[in-house]
Amino acid sequence: MKLVFCTNNDHKIQEVTQILGTQFSFLKLNDIGFTEDIPEPYETLEENSTNKAKIVFEKTGHNTFAEDTGLFIEALDGEPGVYSARYAGEPSNSDHNMEKVLTKLSNSLNRRAYFKTVVTIILDGTIHQFSGICEGSIALEKSGQKGFGYDPIFIPNESSVTFAELTAEEKNKLSHRRKAFDQFAVFLSNL
Ligand code: IMP
Repeated sequence: MKLVFCTNNDHKIQEVTQILGTQFSFLKLNDIGFTEDIPEPYETLEENSTNKAKIVFEKTGHNTFAEDTGLFIEALDGEPGVYSARYAGEPSNSDHNMEKVLTKLSNSLNRRAYFKTVVTIILDGTIHQFSGICEGSIALEKSGQKGFGYDPIFIPNESSVTFAELTAEEKNKLSHRRKAFDQFAVFLSNL
Protein backbone atom coordinates (compact mmCIF):
# COMPACT_ATOMS: atom_id res chain seq x y z
CA MET A 1 0.00 0.00 0.00
CA LYS A 2 1.30 3.47 -0.91
CA LEU A 3 1.15 5.84 2.07
CA VAL A 4 2.35 9.45 2.17
CA PHE A 5 3.57 11.03 5.43
CA CYS A 6 2.43 14.68 5.25
CA THR A 7 5.47 16.39 6.72
CA ASN A 8 8.72 18.03 5.70
CA ASN A 9 10.15 17.73 9.21
CA ASP A 10 13.23 15.47 8.91
CA HIS A 11 13.29 14.81 12.67
CA LYS A 12 9.74 13.48 12.62
CA ILE A 13 10.50 11.39 9.52
CA GLN A 14 13.55 9.88 11.24
CA GLU A 15 11.70 9.08 14.45
CA VAL A 16 8.68 7.57 12.68
CA THR A 17 10.95 5.53 10.38
CA GLN A 18 12.71 4.09 13.46
CA ILE A 19 9.47 3.47 15.33
CA LEU A 20 7.77 1.66 12.42
CA GLY A 21 10.94 -0.27 11.55
CA THR A 22 10.82 -2.38 8.43
CA GLN A 23 7.16 -3.28 8.96
CA PHE A 24 5.79 -0.41 6.85
CA SER A 25 7.33 2.05 4.44
CA PHE A 26 6.01 5.43 3.41
CA LEU A 27 6.67 8.23 0.94
CA LYS A 28 7.51 11.76 2.01
CA LEU A 29 6.03 14.95 0.55
CA ASN A 30 9.28 15.53 -1.36
CA ASP A 31 8.96 12.07 -2.95
CA ILE A 32 5.63 13.03 -4.54
CA GLY A 33 6.74 16.56 -5.48
CA PHE A 34 4.40 18.24 -2.97
CA THR A 35 6.11 21.48 -1.97
CA GLU A 36 3.25 23.64 -0.66
CA ASP A 37 3.29 24.87 2.92
CA ILE A 38 0.45 23.23 4.87
CA PRO A 39 -1.23 25.57 7.38
CA GLU A 40 -2.11 24.60 10.97
CA PRO A 41 -5.00 27.01 11.61
CA TYR A 42 -7.04 25.10 14.21
CA GLU A 43 -7.11 25.02 18.01
CA THR A 44 -6.73 21.28 18.47
CA LEU A 45 -4.05 18.79 17.41
CA GLU A 46 -6.86 16.56 16.11
CA GLU A 47 -8.12 19.22 13.68
CA ASN A 48 -4.66 20.34 12.54
CA SER A 49 -3.50 16.81 11.91
CA THR A 50 -6.71 15.99 9.99
CA ASN A 51 -6.32 19.18 7.97
CA LYS A 52 -2.77 18.28 6.88
CA ALA A 53 -3.75 14.74 5.84
CA LYS A 54 -6.90 15.98 4.04
CA ILE A 55 -5.11 18.67 2.01
CA VAL A 56 -2.57 16.18 0.63
CA PHE A 57 -5.24 13.49 0.07
CA GLU A 58 -7.50 15.90 -1.80
CA LYS A 59 -4.68 17.25 -3.99
CA THR A 60 -2.95 13.95 -4.78
CA GLY A 61 -5.48 11.15 -4.22
CA HIS A 62 -2.87 9.17 -2.23
CA ASN A 63 -3.58 7.50 1.10
CA THR A 64 -2.01 9.88 3.60
CA PHE A 65 -1.13 10.26 7.25
CA ALA A 66 -0.13 13.33 9.22
CA GLU A 67 0.80 14.05 12.79
CA ASP A 68 0.53 17.14 14.95
CA THR A 69 2.33 17.45 18.27
CA GLY A 70 2.20 19.94 21.14
CA LEU A 71 3.78 20.52 24.54
CA PHE A 72 1.18 21.22 27.25
CA ILE A 73 2.45 22.85 30.46
CA GLU A 74 0.20 22.72 33.53
CA ALA A 75 1.34 25.96 35.18
CA LEU A 76 0.82 27.83 31.88
CA ASP A 77 -2.77 26.59 31.48
CA GLY A 78 -1.74 24.21 28.70
CA GLU A 79 0.51 26.62 26.76
CA PRO A 80 2.17 26.39 24.29
CA GLY A 81 -0.14 23.51 23.19
CA VAL A 82 -1.18 23.77 19.54
CA TYR A 83 0.96 26.88 19.25
CA SER A 84 4.16 25.01 20.18
CA ALA A 85 5.89 25.58 16.82
CA ARG A 86 5.57 29.36 16.86
CA TYR A 87 5.27 30.07 20.60
CA ALA A 88 7.89 32.86 20.47
CA GLY A 89 6.65 34.17 17.11
CA GLU A 90 7.50 33.71 13.42
CA PRO A 91 9.67 32.24 12.04
CA SER A 92 9.57 29.14 14.21
CA ASN A 93 12.71 28.98 16.40
CA SER A 94 13.20 26.25 19.00
CA ASP A 95 15.74 28.20 21.09
CA HIS A 96 13.41 31.19 21.35
CA ASN A 97 10.46 28.93 22.16
CA MET A 98 12.40 27.23 24.98
CA GLU A 99 13.61 30.57 26.37
CA LYS A 100 10.00 31.79 26.48
CA VAL A 101 8.90 28.68 28.39
CA LEU A 102 11.80 28.91 30.87
CA THR A 103 11.16 32.61 31.47
CA LYS A 104 7.44 32.10 32.02
CA LEU A 105 8.15 29.26 34.46
CA SER A 106 10.99 31.01 36.28
CA ASN A 107 8.94 31.44 39.47
CA SER A 108 6.99 28.24 39.18
CA LEU A 109 7.56 25.18 41.33
CA ASN A 110 5.00 23.29 39.27
CA ARG A 111 6.98 22.05 36.25
CA ARG A 112 4.50 19.36 35.14
CA ALA A 113 4.00 19.02 31.39
CA TYR A 114 3.19 16.51 28.71
CA PHE A 115 3.73 16.03 25.01
CA LYS A 116 0.80 14.85 22.92
CA THR A 117 0.92 13.54 19.36
CA VAL A 118 -2.14 12.97 17.23
CA VAL A 119 -1.80 10.89 14.06
CA THR A 120 -4.51 10.99 11.41
CA ILE A 121 -4.58 8.50 8.56
CA ILE A 122 -6.85 8.85 5.54
CA LEU A 123 -7.33 5.47 3.96
CA ASP A 124 -9.50 5.25 0.86
CA GLY A 125 -11.18 8.45 1.99
CA THR A 126 -11.94 7.32 5.55
CA ILE A 127 -10.34 9.08 8.53
CA HIS A 128 -8.80 7.18 11.48
CA GLN A 129 -7.04 8.82 14.41
CA PHE A 130 -4.61 7.74 17.16
CA SER A 131 -2.95 9.69 19.96
CA GLY A 132 -0.07 9.26 22.39
CA ILE A 133 0.92 11.18 25.51
CA CYS A 134 4.27 11.35 27.32
CA GLU A 135 4.09 12.85 30.84
CA GLY A 136 7.07 14.65 32.30
CA SER A 137 8.38 17.95 33.58
CA ILE A 138 10.14 21.08 32.38
CA ALA A 139 13.81 21.28 33.39
CA LEU A 140 15.28 24.42 35.02
CA GLU A 141 17.62 24.89 32.05
CA LYS A 142 18.41 23.38 28.67
CA SER A 143 20.49 20.17 28.61
CA GLY A 144 21.54 17.89 25.79
CA GLN A 145 22.14 18.17 22.07
CA LYS A 146 20.06 15.34 20.61
CA GLY A 147 16.48 15.33 19.37
CA PHE A 148 14.70 18.52 18.29
CA GLY A 149 12.21 21.18 19.31
CA TYR A 150 11.65 21.31 23.08
CA ASP A 151 13.67 18.13 23.77
CA PRO A 152 16.45 19.97 25.73
CA ILE A 153 13.97 21.16 28.39
CA PHE A 154 11.64 18.13 28.67
CA ILE A 155 12.34 15.37 31.21
CA PRO A 156 10.02 12.40 30.72
CA ASN A 157 8.79 10.80 33.97
CA GLU A 158 10.54 7.53 33.13
CA SER A 159 13.93 9.29 32.96
CA SER A 160 16.13 11.59 35.05
CA VAL A 161 17.51 13.44 32.02
CA THR A 162 15.97 15.41 29.15
CA PHE A 163 14.86 13.89 25.84
CA ALA A 164 17.86 15.69 24.28
CA GLU A 165 20.25 13.69 26.49
CA LEU A 166 18.72 10.36 25.49
CA THR A 167 19.73 8.42 22.39
CA ALA A 168 17.17 8.27 19.58
CA GLU A 169 16.42 4.66 20.55
CA GLU A 170 15.82 5.64 24.18
CA LYS A 171 13.52 8.55 23.25
CA ASN A 172 11.63 6.36 20.78
CA LYS A 173 10.92 3.79 23.49
CA LEU A 174 8.90 6.16 25.63
CA SER A 175 7.86 9.13 23.53
CA HIS A 176 4.39 10.47 22.76
CA ARG A 177 5.15 9.78 19.07
CA ARG A 178 5.99 6.15 19.85
CA LYS A 179 2.72 5.66 21.71
CA ALA A 180 0.65 7.13 18.88
CA PHE A 181 2.51 5.28 16.11
CA ASP A 182 2.34 1.94 17.95
CA GLN A 183 -1.45 2.13 17.62
CA PHE A 184 -1.09 3.23 14.00
CA ALA A 185 1.09 0.17 13.29
CA VAL A 186 -1.38 -2.22 14.96
CA PHE A 187 -4.20 -0.66 12.90
CA LEU A 188 -2.27 -1.10 9.64
CA SER A 189 -1.24 -4.66 10.42
CA ASN A 190 -4.88 -5.62 11.07
CA LEU A 191 -6.14 -4.39 7.69
P1 IMP B 1 4.35 20.41 14.86
O1 IMP B 1 3.71 19.11 15.19
O2 IMP B 1 5.27 20.27 13.68
O3 IMP B 1 3.36 21.52 14.72
O4 IMP B 1 5.34 20.74 16.05
C1 IMP B 1 5.02 21.60 17.10
C2 IMP B 1 6.23 22.04 17.85
O5 IMP B 1 6.55 21.08 18.82
C3 IMP B 1 7.49 22.33 17.06
O6 IMP B 1 8.14 23.43 17.63
C4 IMP B 1 8.31 21.10 17.24
O7 IMP B 1 9.68 21.37 17.17
C5 IMP B 1 7.89 20.67 18.64
N1 IMP B 1 7.94 19.22 18.75
C6 IMP B 1 7.21 18.32 18.05
N2 IMP B 1 7.56 17.07 18.43
C7 IMP B 1 8.52 17.20 19.38
C8 IMP B 1 9.27 16.27 20.12
O8 IMP B 1 9.18 15.05 19.98
N3 IMP B 1 10.16 16.79 20.99
C9 IMP B 1 10.32 18.13 21.18
N4 IMP B 1 9.65 19.04 20.50
C10 IMP B 1 8.74 18.58 19.59
